[in-house]
Amino acid sequence: MACSYPSVSELVTDARSVYRQVFENEAPLVAVCAPGRVNLIGEHTDYNQGFVLPMALPLVTVVVGSKTSDREVSLVTANKDVDEPVRVDFTLPSDGSPLPPGSPSWANYVKGVIQHYRAPPLPGFRAVIASSVPLGGGLSSSASLEVAFYTFLQQLKPDDGDDVSKALSCQKAEHTHAGVPCGIMDQFVSVLGKEGHALLIDCRSLEATSIPLADPHLVILITNSNVKHALTGSEYPTRRRQCEEAASILGKDSLRDATMKDLEEAKNKMEDVTYQRARHVIQEIERTAQAAESLKKGDYVKFGKLMVESHNSLRDLYEVSCKELDELVSAAMEVDGVYGSRMTGGGFGGCTVTLLQASAINKTIQHIKEQYSGTPTFYVTTPTQGARPLSMS
Ligand code: ADP
Ligand code: MG
Repeated sequence: MACSYPSVSELVTDARSVYRQVFENEAPLVAVCAPGRVNLIGEHTDYNQGFVLPMALPLVTVVVGSKTSDREVSLVTANKDVDEPVRVDFTLPSDGSPLPPGSPSWANYVKGVIQHYRAPPLPGFRAVIASSVPLGGGLSSSASLEVAFYTFLQQLKPDDGDDVSKALSCQKAEHTHAGVPCGIMDQFVSVLGKEGHALLIDCRSLEATSIPLADPHLVILITNSNVKHALTGSEYPTRRRQCEEAASILGKDSLRDATMKDLEEAKNKMEDVTYQRARHVIQEIERTAQAAESLKKGDYVKFGKLMVESHNSLRDLYEVSCKELDELVSAAMEVDGVYGSRMTGGGFGGCTVTLLQASAINKTIQHIKEQYSGTPTFYVTTPTQGARPLSMS
């Protein structure tokens, strides 16, 4: 009943066949993949130096390709949901000069990764991208593309293999070439995710702890609202600014260092909206630490309760939810066997994530379909491995 998505090997087959069509029947020599992610809890905490608790998804971006003997790059995406053209050709700068972003915009994620690759200079190459991560759905197709591409470049010319630096380079690519001032979570879990584990990331120290999440009686359901409200562009920088302002009023480097006591004492020194944003962040960081503890103990009831508190806080204090996400969460919570549900990702559309008993999956999907005013897409998932090279056989 759930939405089915192509397997990694099906994506590789698709990408290889596109490669053969485009590049004179040649076969690519290298294949890699990197996953999208879903954040279980810890929303809008990453750029506040807090905790996040994502997991890597079975939805992945695949890159196949081969190096060439010159400095020419040819890049093709098999995805139809991008700005035209789907093929881009350019020459790698030979003198270390920058590779500026341009048009089409989808290629900028790749150009950014080339620019920030840690073992220049690179050889030329031909590559085809194929992905099962929905674009712009809040499951981080952008980070999966960056990390997949970085992993592809590592096969052409190895770097020192430091995974944290790799995630940071991919984050930088999104900052400089896509103009998105994202936190580190998406790239980090796409590189370091482990099968059967969620990843608790401390966004201040960049320490990551894998927490087992492989109970066969448990399922993580992602529901795509299939809406994306256009205001997102300006709202994200505004929230970041409000958090910085609150931290500065509290005399802290970031809200990670602030307690609710600090905030209450300084309440009359800030606008009410700034107080509310800060309250969400401070409490959400605490909830995420508690959720990680609950998961370690297998206390899914507590975990689910924290998910719902997180959603309510994002809706009421941080004001980044929307009617569709609220509907999806309410519908999920009406079903027996559902532990918790919340919006996931930046907000204003995109997906919800729901933790539930495996035995309740069909009735949950059915109920959400009946209650939701739009048309949802469902992904039944478990945590998978981070970026990896694939065998071509
Ligand atoms: P999200 O990361 O939540 O999916 P973003 O807006 O951050 O949404 O990133 C989506 C953008 O990333 C797309 O519009 C496109 O430019 C680029 N992108 C992601 N996956 C691919 C792909 N397979 N092929 C080409 N571009 C892609
Ligand atoms: Mg993204």
